[in-house]
Amino acid sequence: MGVLSLLAAGFPAGMNGQGGAPGAPPERALARDLLRELIEINTAPANGCTKAAEALAARLRSAGFPETDVLMAGPRPEKQNLVARLRGRGQGKPVLWIAHLDVVDAPREGWLPGLDPFRLTERDGFFYGRGVLDVKDAAAGLVANLIRLRAEGFVPSRDVIVALTADEETGGSNGVSWLLANRRDWIDSAFCLNLDAGGGQIENGKRARLTVQTSQKTNQSFRAEAKGPGGHSSQPVGNNAIYRLSAGLARLAEHDPPFRFNESTRAYFERVAESESGQIASDMKAVAKDPPDLEAARRLAAATPYYNSILRTTCVATRLEAGTADNALPPSARAVINCRIFPGDSLEFVRGWLAQTLADPEIVLTPMGGSVPSPASPLLPEVMDPIARIAGELWPGVPVLPVMDPWAGDSAQMRRAGFPTFGASGVFSDDNGGEHGANERISVAAFDESVEYIYRLMKTLATDAAAANR
Ligand SMILES: [Zn+2]
Repeated sequence: MGVLSLLAAGFPAGMNGQGGAPGAPPERALARDLLRELIEINTAPANGCTKAAEALAARLRSAGFPETDVLMAGPRPEKQNLVARLRGRGQGKPVLWIAHLDVVDAPREGWLPGLDPFRLTERDGFFYGRGVLDVKDAAAGLVANLIRLRAEGFVPSRDVIVALTADEETGGSNGVSWLLANRRDWIDSAFCLNLDAGGGQIENGKRARLTVQTSQKTNQSFRAEAKGPGGHSSQPVGNNAIYRLSAGLARLAEHDPPFRFNESTRAYFERVAESESGQIASDMKAVAKDPPDLEAARRLAAATPYYNSILRTTCVATRLEAGTADNALPPSARAVINCRIFPGDSLEFVRGWLAQTLADPEIVLTPMGGSVPSPASPLLPEVMDPIARIAGELWPGVPVLPVMDPWAGDSAQMRRAGFPTFGASGVFSDDNGGEHGANERISVAAFDESVEYIYRLMKTLATDAAAANR
């Protein structure tokens, strides 16, 4: 479309201020402008996200989205979530895109001179500011593309829904769980793309891989407690709570839960094997087979903590406390054992495995909080194929891998609620992105490319095959 119609659709005129570059196409300028606006609204937990949600809602309305398709709701005035909809022809269930609007706090200490965490600064090819990578870049990209698609007159065959949510990082008002519990009809969809997960990894200055998160482990801690009779330490007795618990933990140190595999981890190892060599490559191919080679799994698990973490549920002691005084026998000894549960293992299974491994009926195991395991999403070809194709257009030759993350987030909640969910960020970064720390940054090129990636993927996923063939 022409520049004039983009301007009429609410695209910013010219490249004023930071975040713009002379001569950039208008859709690129809009995304950058939205990123600047979002960074300058401090959405750390104490402030809430409502101002950011309102700013984006205003942009959508002035671009012509009707009031009824730009909705806000949340448990508290300062914890509002924004749900916007680009109407399609109703041929199929909607496609949902999510990203969170909140950021972790950003004390000024540690930021380079001249950088303000709540001002978007462009320097040496990077945008700096709290949230540029986690994950206001995605919120800006999603809203910019809704506006772009509407301005182009694109009518999808099915609705495109964008939900921008509160309290993913901390705070008790997680927007995804609130929407699932209170406005499920607003986000009801065939599947979900979460831009706060997955993404491209840069290694040695090169794009190494694009990951699509299709599965997550569940975080569940247990308290293990042994009790003793107490008494004066001058007259030790046989039943010492510290010794009992320590002996149990020593057994835990020597044992691991059984190996587990799913479609995501098999596909992961199969693809990564192509860029490995020698024993590691053949072991990866061997665990990707059905049935998998357990000896190969053993070698891989020993090779790196990461491979171990995606091959099984893990349980590790993380805290210990015992006793009341230097001269008293300990009345009790307690440890926290933190488990990351592989999708498909139940809480009861893990608890049973722990009890068997600690091997002492006097050590009482109690789950701390009740997390609900999250299933893996099927690798739907209608999602995975367009991702691979569009990634191939933008980043030729870069492998696309499904991954299971050993931590939990909003994707896990969506999967628990029955929505296949894909962590589908298109941002490439290295390990120096500063997420949650000082000097958070995203390369300007990676931001622009990710916005284009969202554009192509949003358009493709909203056009179902049947409609495309008509
Ligand atoms: Zn995040």
